[in-house]
Amino acid sequence: MASAIDSSDIVYKASKIHGTSPVASAALGRLLSATSMMGAMLKSKDASINLRVAGDGPLGAVIAVSDSSGNVKGYVSNANCPSTHYNSKKLNVSEAVGKNGVLNVMRDLGTGEPYIGQIELVSGEIAEDIAAYYAQSEQIPTVCALGVLIDKETAQVLLSGGMLIQLLPGADDSTIEKLEENLKDLDSVTTMLAKGMSTLDMCKEALKGFEVEQLDEFEVKYVCGCSKEKIASLIESMPKEEIEDMIEKDGGAKANCHFCNKSFEFSVDDLKAILLKK
Ligand SMILES: [Zn+2]
Repeated sequence: MASAIDSSDIVYKASKIHGTSPVASAALGRLLSATSMMGAMLKSKDASINLRVAGDGPLGAVIAVSDSSGNVKGYVSNANCPSTHYNSKKLNVSEAVGKNGVLNVMRDLGTGEPYIGQIELVSGEIAEDIAAYYAQSEQIPTVCALGVLIDKETAQVLLSGGMLIQLLPGADDSTIEKLEENLKDLDSVTTMLAKGMSTLDMCKEALKGFEVEQLDEFEVKYVCGCSKEKIASLIESMPKEEIEDMIEKDGGAKANCHFCNKSFEFSVDDLKAILLKK
């Protein structure tokens, strides 16, 4: 089974919201692409998936969340992380993320009881780490390719995409060999996008020689569903004394959304109204 995503608009938007450095855009972009594809595989409508890459590099944690329609949001701890390159060319995402650390995958199928998986990072390049997660945690042989193309001069995100190819249970050796052969010759995802290939073209190219049936195709976006009401209910769930402190000591409260950078202000009257609901 193969999925592909053109996440160029999503990653461009994420880079603008967070003001990410090139390597931070690349790392966040790769994780957003993978998370969106993994989210879109969830069956139930209220399901969501949360991926967290936490390595020992200067970038800090990278977080992405997707709903079951593949709509995503995310952020990095250190958006200004300095960029280094392999042979002064390709961005060195592994160095920014760090090779030592963990990848956490949390799936909430809408039941309120999340399924949590964790693996040690393999390389910090993210695609390899996702493939390792599927192999180790779910015993599904998986190939993952992720790419973000960034303009060297302007540091703007030009193209971003990803592919996830998974073998169904019982796949025989000849299937695996044929697939490996295809993947050896496959262009990078950003090269395929630059050639004007659609996500379906990309899947067909990766599955050359196999019968391809298109199961679905849909648009995915960078979406943050935060609102003052949602933040208010978070405040409501805090201990009464803390809310009273906000009123008496701070004279109000200000909350900033990690995912979209929007800030919400709560006046003393707002907070008193929240206290009354408790
Ligand atoms: Zn938000």
